[in-house]
Amino acid sequence: MKTVNSPFKFKGGVHPDYNKELARAEQIERLPLPGELVISMSQHLGAPAKCLVKPGDFVRRGQLIGEKNGFISVCVRASADGKVKAVEKRPGPAGGLADAVILDTTVPPPEGAEPAAVALPPLDWKTAAREELLRRVEEAGICGMGGAGFPSAVKLNPPPGKRCEYLILNGAECEPYLTADFRVMLERADRIRVGVEIMRRILGGPAVRIAIEANKPEAIAAMERAFADIDGNVEIVVLPVLYPQGSEKHQIYATVGRTVPEPPALPIDVGCVVENVGTVAAIADAVEKGEPLLERVTTVSGDAVANPKNILAPCGTKYADLLAFCGGLKEPAAKVISGGTMMGFAVPNLDIATTKTTSGLLFLTRRRVFQYASGACINCGRCVRACPMNLNAAEISKAVEANDVAAAEALHVMTCIECGACSFSCPSYRTITQFCRKAKASIRARQAAERAAAAKAKAAEEEKKAAEARKEAK
Ligand code: SF4
Ligand code: SF4
Repeated sequence: MKTVNSPFKFKGGVHPDYNKELARAEQIERLPLPGELVISMSQHLGAPAKCLVKPGDFVRRGQLIGEKNGFISVCVRASADGKVKAVEKRPGPAGGLADAVILDTTVPPPEGAEPAAVALPPLDWKTAAREELLRRVEEAGICGMGGAGFPSAVKLNPPPGKRCEYLILNGAECEPYLTADFRVMLERADRIRVGVEIMRRILGGPAVRIAIEANKPEAIAAMERAFADIDGNVEIVVLPVLYPQGSEKHQIYATVGRTVPEPPALPIDVGCVVENVGTVAAIADAVEKGEPLLERVTTVSGDAVANPKNILAPCGTKYADLLAFCGGLKEPAAKVISGGTMMGFAVPNLDIATTKTTSGLLFLTRRRVFQYASGACINCGRCVRACPMNLNAAEISKAVEANDVAAAEALHVMTCIECGACSFSCPSYRTITQFCRKAKASIRARQAAERAAAAKAKAAEEEKKAAEARKEAK
C-alpha cells in the first residue's frame, strides 16, 4: 500500500469557501431515538420501494417495510421499533412526493412479542460465496450514501462482458461545510477496511484507490493506518482541493486517468466502480454484523446553528429533531439547505426527514446567503472555464432562457452533472445550473413519452399479429 499524489487534473472546477472548520472536530454523536420517524420509500435512485405495511402494524427495527420494486431500486427496512401511524405521501429533500411510513417509536411492542433480533444473520465474508455477499448488500438496502443513491448491489454486479479493474473509494467530500465522511474515515476506518475486503471479493479482486482531498490530512493518516498491511494493489490517492473533486466521473479521471463517455455510459464501461466511504462501512456492517442500512452520519452545520455536529441518526429523522440536538439556532436562519451549498436543495420546513443519502443539513444566516437579481449574459466566459464537463454553459443558459430545449440538447446539456460551478462563477448571477436542470427534466420527460409511445405501438403490433394468427387458426 502506498500514498501518491493524483497525477491527473481535470479541466475547470472552482474554489468555494469550504467552512468545514465549524464541524470537522466534532466527534460523531448518536441521536437519542426521536418519538416519530418519517421513513420514505424513495431514499435511493430508481423506482421507489413498494410499501409492505399499513397503519396499525407494529414493526421491529430492521424489518422489511418496503420491497425493492425494479432492477434500479432498493428495499427499505424499519429504522426502529414502532407502530405505523400512517402511510402517506411526504415531500423528500429535493421536493418530490413519495410514500412514507410514519412511525410512532414511543409505542412499546405488543404483549408477548419476541425480543427484537438482529435483522439479518451475520456472514463470514472470508468464506461466503460472491453471490451470498451480493445478496446481502441488496437485502440490507444499501445504496450510495454520497448523494446519488445508486443501488450498491447493481453497481457491484457488472453486466456480462464488463469487468471492474479499479474499485475507487470516494473520500473527497468536496462540498462546503460537510464533514460526515471525514469523521467516518477517522472514526470508522476499520469498518472501511473490512468493506473494501468484501467488495474486492465480490468484484473479483480489482486494484483499490482511496481518493481523499489534500485538506483532510487526518483522514489520509487514518486510512494509511487502517490499510497498512493490506495485500494487493492498493493506493491512497491525494487529490488537489478543487470542487467538484467528489464527482464520480472526475474522481475516476483524477485517480486512474480514465474518461467516462457521455450518458448512458457508466463508470464500469471504463472498468471502474466508485463507492462513497460511508457506503463501504455500511457494507461491512451489513455482512459482518447483519446490520441493514438503517442510520447514517449527517453533518448539521452553518453559521446559524448553536452547536454544529456530526450526528448518527436513524433514516427518517425529521430535520427539526437534528436541529434540536444541536441546541437550535443561535441566530435566525435565512436559508436551510439539505446537502452542501453547491449541490444541495433549499428546504421549506423542518418536517422533512433524512434518507440514506442525507449528508448534511445547513442553516445559514443572512450574512452567508447572497441576495441577487439575475442579469443578462455578458459573454465573459467564466462559466465555460469553470465547467468540469467542458460544456458551453453560457450558450446552454441562453438556449433554455429562450425555451429552445433542442438547442440545449445539441449543446450536450444531458452530460451536465449539476455541480453548480458555472453559477458560482457567473458575475451576472445567472442561474445557469437551474437552466440546465430544467432542460434535462424536459428532455427526460420527452424521452419517457417516446419510450411509452414505442412500447404502446409494439404492443398494438403484437396484438394485431396474434389476432391474425387466431383468425388463421380458425
Ligand atoms: S452545472 Fe453543469 S453546466 Fe454548470 S458547471 Fe456544472 S456541469 Fe457545467
Ligand atoms: S459567466 Fe455568466 S456572464 Fe459570463 S459567460 Fe457565463 S453566463 Fe455569461
